[in-house]
Amino acid sequence: MDSLTFLKLMNVGITVFFFAIGSIIASFWALVAARLQEGRGWVKGRSECDYCRHLICWWQNIPVLSYLFLRGRCHYCHRRIKASYFIWECLLGLWTVVWLWYLSPLAPYADQTSLAIRPPFFSVPGNLLALLQSLLFLCLGAVLLWTALVDLQTQEIADGWLWTVLALTVAKYGLDLGYGSLSLGQIGPVLLRSLGVGAVFWVLDWVARRIWKRPGIGLGDTLMVMLLAWWLPSVGELAVMFLLAFWLGAIVGLLILGFAKLGRVKKQPTIAFLPFINLAFLLSCFWGQQLSAWILGLNG
Ligand SMILES: [Zn+2]
Repeated sequence: MDSLTFLKLMNVGITVFFFAIGSIIASFWALVAARLQEGRGWVKGRSECDYCRHLICWWQNIPVLSYLFLRGRCHYCHRRIKASYFIWECLLGLWTVVWLWYLSPLAPYADQTSLAIRPPFFSVPGNLLALLQSLLFLCLGAVLLWTALVDLQTQEIADGWLWTVLALTVAKYGLDLGYGSLSLGQIGPVLLRSLGVGAVFWVLDWVARRIWKRPGIGLGDTLMVMLLAWWLPSVGELAVMFLLAFWLGAIVGLLILGFAKLGRVKKQPTIAFLPFINLAFLLSCFWGQQLSAWILGLNG
């Protein structure tokens, strides 16, 4: 085996390992969330089927893989296991792999393109600041993916997640200020952008409720967008985030409407806005600069 093949195999091994870590954390995360929601102690007791309460043994409890072996059904009662668990484990596994190859200290060694789409608020990888920034962003991405999935199903997010995003944002700014990669003077424009976004959402909410007589945007969504604005380095990326969110929302909305017409969807579900904002935010962190240059003709 030559050294290049060995290197490629090693990369595959590392990728699988990090995917597994992400999906194991996802599995534990979903379990804790479900138990907290039911008001049960979150460490006590083994996993059990949501329907027949049969205890689940270890091979039925492997993230991602068990769902595939069991073909999405409980081994005992054969009822469908919620696909959202499987989707969440895959999503967090993938996000961990994206972190590994594009944001972690290993990113510069992966390939040249990984640095080209690095979110612009990261310093050059290789020092402690870049590592800590990338870990905060890993956590932020995980929270956004989770809240997007939960919001799609329940149309609401728990306040705890807003506080978590606030804490991550404060930590990021504390880190940047502490390391001197950001000066206090640079905070003013970011604060103004965040308040501006809040004002736009407040007006849209008012128009929707008073004039169109439809449910408005909601305080949770507005606060989340105001917090996310702190992570995007310029008006261009912020604009790209909104454009992407509206396009994604419109495309999915039309698809659901189409399926409803065909009779595939029984009742027309209300479509949440937050999942699209979260997804658009993550996309514009990576491709915001290129997209804003391309779509809006903005540079910087
Ligand atoms: Zn069962």
